[in-house]
Amino acid sequence: MRIACDIDGVLLDTVITFCEIFNKKNGTSYQKSDVTKWEFFLDWNIPEDDIWDIFFQIYEDSMSTPFIDDQIPVIMKDLNQMHQVSIVSARTPEYREYILEKLQYHGILQGPHYNELVLLIHKPYDLKIKQDFDVFIDDNPKLAEAINKQKKKILLLYDQPWNQEIDDAENVIRVKNWTEIDQYFKKVEKNEDNNEL
Ligand SMILES: [Mg+2]
Repeated sequence: MRIACDIDGVLLDTVITFCEIFNKKNGTSYQKSDVTKWEFFLDWNIPEDDIWDIFFQIYEDSMSTPFIDDQIPVIMKDLNQMHQVSIVSARTPEYREYILEKLQYHGILQGPHYNELVLLIHKPYDLKIKQDFDVFIDDNPKLAEAINKQKKKILLLYDQPWNQEIDDAENVIRVKNWTEIDQYFKKVEKNEDNNEL
């Protein structure tokens, strides 16, 4: 299977860093758990441009952004042996070097862990889904809506406070952590083996 693995919200806990920078600038005390919508800035009464300024700042220096799960390198390496893993992000191409540096720092290397780093623009939301992958590992609730129209593709929706309103569907499966991602693929591989017998 061709697997597209997202960065923000799946490999990195970017919103934790976002809240820290935002709070410092604005004297607020927001936490990740307060980000309960994809377009949370509408509720917070903040212009979208201000939000992006902070994200761009993080994209240029992600070294302090928390890595979501220390097991990722081991699980991803296994996955990439059985399947084809690509890292697919809406961080735009000018941030490529910073992303590679951060991934390397956490032991995620092109070759053993993933084949390709694909960088796209962040809108329209269904742009990612239109890429040639079978399974998307992503936290974006907007992708759950977009993938509805592409039933052959599967979204493993990485559980985050901003995607709680999405219900599981035939091709939308919520995963709480990387152990559950690992278990999902082990189950699929087992079923494929059984089908071949
Ligand atoms: Mg994401």
